[in-house]
Amino acid sequence: MADKRIALFPGSFDPFTKGHQDIVLRANSLFDEVIVAVGHNSKKQRYFEIDLMIDKINETFADHPKIRVITYNELTASLAKKYKAGYLLRGLRNTTDFEYENSIAQVNRYLNESLETVFLITSPEFAHISSTIIREVHKYDGDVSPFVPYEI
Ligand code: ADP
Repeated sequence: MADKRIALFPGSFDPFTKGHQDIVLRANSLFDEVIVAVGHNSKKQRYFEIDLMIDKINETFADHPKIRVITYNELTASLAKKYKAGYLLRGLRNTTDFEYENSIAQVNRYLNESLETVFLITSPEFAHISSTIIREVHKYDGDVSPFVPYEI
């Protein structure tokens, strides 16, 4: 059998949003396995606890056996090697995302030549959703349920 096509979707996911869910579900039909990798960095304070977010993402994809969730604290290029992922998955909402993602993709190519970055353009109904805004809404007791695929 040919090598499995494994896509790694790294991010802060603080929190994981319906925009992220859309990217993962679309990738699920393109790849043999999709690994959602939640970054944690002891120096960077998170708003939502990492363990809570892992639980919520697992719950979101409970019916999808090809989707896995892990945490990481290392270079994504090395993480991809460790998990034998040939593809790095990222989502694009706008030109600001593009500028940022373009430079990361160049560095990742330099660090791991066999890793191909694959971009999916956001679905229009999720283009406005950002983790930063959800954190603000949540902080001031607003209802974030329209933006996340789970109860929080
Ligand atoms: P990071 O801190 O690595 O940028 P994020 O959790 O903010 O992590 O985002 C992870 C990936 O998801 C990035 O590629 C980002 O552009 C993409 N993304 C974020 N929000 C959306 C959305 N609403 N629709 C599609 N992609 C998105």
